Amino acid sequence: MKTFSSERASRFTESVIREMTRICLKHQGVNLAQGFPDFPAPLEIKEAAIQSIQRDFNQYAITWGTPSLRQAISEKFAWYNGITIDPEQEITVCCGSTEAMISSLMAIVNPGEEVIVFEPFYENYGPDTILCGAKPRFITLHEPDWHFDEQELARAFNNKTKAIILNTPNNPTGKVFSREELQFIADLCLKWGVIAATDEIYEHILYDGAKHISIASLPGMRNQTITINSISKTYSLTGWRVGWAIASPHLTASIRKVHDFLTVGAPHPLQEAGAIALKMDRSYYETLAREYQERRDFLAKALDESGFKVYLPFGAYYIMTDVKGFGFSDDVTFARHLVEKFGVATVPGSSFYSSPSLGRTKVRFCFPKKRETLQAAAERLKRLK
Ligand code: GLN
Repeated sequence: MKTFSSERASRFTESVIREMTRICLKHQGVNLAQGFPDFPAPLEIKEAAIQSIQRDFNQYAITWGTPSLRQAISEKFAWYNGITIDPEQEITVCCGSTEAMISSLMAIVNPGEEVIVFEPFYENYGPDTILCGAKPRFITLHEPDWHFDEQELARAFNNKTKAIILNTPNNPTGKVFSREELQFIADLCLKWGVIAATDEIYEHILYDGAKHISIASLPGMRNQTITINSISKTYSLTGWRVGWAIASPHLTASIRKVHDFLTVGAPHPLQEAGAIALKMDRSYYETLAREYQERRDFLAKALDESGFKVYLPFGAYYIMTDVKGFGFSDDVTFARHLVEKFGVATVPGSSFYSSPSLGRTKVRFCFPKKRETLQAAAERLKRLK
């Protein structure tokens, strides 16, 4: 019998992160599952979007991005990441970093080639490797500090390796890759002719003095890196779906073709407003990081007091926890119990691992939330004890 679904689509499940949001709505819980803010986006950016619609930026933008946004991206990439690029030839604006990553992988990977992924990983990277026909190779990040074993990583590179997916600051662990770690990865990329596809959307959300380093800024890596980013996390605009991929002109030409036929383009008025966002005063980023640090400290303390083992993050806005102490059979049962009985939604740890058994004792919390939301979650969690 013919099956209507493709073999490809049958190889991955629906997103557990997005599913948890729907379950949370059903139980009217506090959503610390899917990472998005519940506080307002900056007023001036919202005003800019309204203006852009009024000024009739309402038809397709140039498929790879409106000129004002590409100009703003290149200026910001120069001052924050220290890399000068040509906005005409090295940027593809996409529908969020999600599309930027899948368009990039589809533009570079041939079926059967290998893509290295650090694990635990942001859920999307699993299906991404399947959709582009790659064979994923997972490299463990070991708690509590989420370091990787250099020899294990070196052994994963071979002639079939096409790309390595990086995410720093990292979702779900909060790890911020150090210069030494990035140099070690870069040396392997240069030795084996491998592209680093690096998702840096949490680049401004850093704690305890951690510094963000873009692998593209390391010697020799500029033309072997695809740097992915978006306005979602930095400006609290996850629903706008405006992201981008920065790569050498040669790689960009391929990414633009895939992007064009997948989506044509991101919403034009929101791209125009995105250009205003990227020109925010530099103090904006300091305030952003400081406010996130307060949220992190608050939630980490609440979790610790409620009996969770907390892996304190140095960046991004998630806290990975170990829930062994609660005595549940697995992470999914625990997460369901938490949302159904206590009204707090989280993401089961297994969603971030290639093999569910590896995440069985873990649960991820997110904290891009108002103080009262975190307070409500803390009060509910206290009752767990
Ligand atoms: N990055 C967010 C998370 O990990 C969600 C992203 C999404 O759902 N598209 O929760």
